[in-house]
Amino acid sequence: MAHSNRALMTVEQNIYIPEFDIDTNTYKDECPYKSGGFSLMYQCRCKSGASFNTIASYKQHIRSQHHRHWISNYKNYFKEVDEANGRINELLGNLDKKNREIIRIKKEYPILKSEFSILKNENSFLKNENSILKNEKSFFKKESSILNKTIKILKKKIKDKKKQIDKLEEQVNILDNQFSEVIN
Ligand SMILES: [Zn+2]
Repeated sequence: MAHSNRALMTVEQNIYIPEFDIDTNTYKDECPYKSGGFSLMYQCRCKSGASFNTIASYKQHIRSQHHRHWISNYKNYFKEVDEANGRINELLGNLDKKNREIIRIKKEYPILKSEFSILKNENSFLKNENSILKNEKSFFKKESSILNKTIKILKKKIKDKKKQIDKLEEQVNILDNQFSEVIN
């Protein structure tokens, strides 16, 4: 995909395309060579086999009658083709991006899958732990309730014993008094 994209761009680079002048709404010649730059061979679509590869030959070519007629009627000849090519390049670029994204996702997928499986296992482990803790909690609740009941019973027993002791002390006092009266 990247190869065909590059090939198309290479073809475009070697075809002379005039500049669009927004002010006049027309196409005009614009020298493709920068001074001192490497001279590429350009094909001009004004005539079959027309080409140039230097600033001098470019300047000579654009003065030809064929070329002048072509540039003044450029909209009729190639405007749509150029726009379509631009759109194709844009779409190829998008496709390239999408392909790279697919490759990236394909690489990430097994990692995410294994991470998901680990999380699933952890979740099941935590669920199990939670259920154990719930059981323990319920067991401690029961234990605590039993202990509370036992404490209540013991408290009552202590109270009863205290009452018995008080009663016994009273009886001992009475007996003590009676004994001292007998002696005296
Ligand atoms: Zn030409």
